[in-house]
Amino acid sequence: MKQENVVIIGSGPAGLTAALYTARANLNPLVITGNELGGQVSITYEVENYPGFPQGTTGPELVELMRRQAEKFGARVEINEVAEVDFTKGSPFYVKTHSEEYQAKAVIVCSGASPKRLGVPGEDAFIGRGVSFCATCDGFFFRGKEIVVVGGGDSALEEGLFLTKFANHVRVVHRRDTLRAGPVLSRRALTNDKMSFIWDTVVEEIVGNGKVEGVTLKNLKTGAVEKLTADGVFVYVGHYPNTSIFKGQLAMDDHGYIIADKLMATSVEGVFAAGEVQDPVYRQVVTSAGQGCQAAIMVERWLSARGLS
Ligand code: NAP
Repeated sequence: MKQENVVIIGSGPAGLTAALYTARANLNPLVITGNELGGQVSITYEVENYPGFPQGTTGPELVELMRRQAEKFGARVEINEVAEVDFTKGSPFYVKTHSEEYQAKAVIVCSGASPKRLGVPGEDAFIGRGVSFCATCDGFFFRGKEIVVVGGGDSALEEGLFLTKFANHVRVVHRRDTLRAGPVLSRRALTNDKMSFIWDTVVEEIVGNGKVEGVTLKNLKTGAVEKLTADGVFVYVGHYPNTSIFKGQLAMDDHGYIIADKLMATSVEGVFAAGEVQDPVYRQVVTSAGQGCQAAIMVERWLSARGLS
């Protein structure tokens, strides 16, 4: 079993910032990436609100810069997924990936959140055949096509706008008649010629033959049901926290988010949490990065107070 000072679970902005700070505190941290280096931001096309980038940047570029900066100070980034943890016996904590076992004096959980599904017929069956949760990954395949985007939040509009670069037309299907997204994105989306909105409406079914050919829509105000032809359906209806491996070990709220206090401490002493896995409210790259920094500082203090660093 490998011995570590700090294992950071997850490699989004929270994890990579926690890595940068613990590395600079000489703790030689190990980051276990999860199934995607960079987490959700790595599949975000444009990031326009991370300070220091007045021209904006892309998610993958920001992740790459964060990784390089953390590694420069000695963080190690391992591409692997954590399959099991045991926090019940206290420090050192047991962490197991698909290929290694570790004992860590402290752990920072930054495992983030994943996109929610609609749960309608056809959604699962057509994943990779017209149904997608990632415009950055799949937008290119929809050149000149008709696309439906589901949701009315920032993700739906941001990714929908990205899809207008490829698609013939993007129809945003939203269950209410007001957008949840902020004013900047809303204005940009509402004035985009290649985008239109279908209000008060939900997708009841995704239909096709081997690939997506359309959706069945229901207007929630009138009850009217109609079919709409579409080649792609991109779903952006929120997220759920990636906490299944921590169930029964760390205290969570009713929605499965880890409960962490202002010092990023979880219910287990020596285990800290940062980023969207414990934050259902702010969920920004900059807030996740800030929380990663906070958790790293608290880990350093926690270890040195116990003579463990
Ligand atoms: P979100 O803000 O929770 O929006 C989810 C959207 O999906 C809402 O419009 C919601 O409708 C709709 N929805 C939820 N369940 C649905 C269902 N079963 N069927 C149909 N529609 C459903 O999620 P998000 O857009 O992923 O954003 C998450 C967080 O990240 C937010 O805090 C957001 O501000 C942030 N974010 C920021 C940026 C940016 O600043 N550039 C970009 C992306 C995300 P209702 O409106 O009726 O609830």
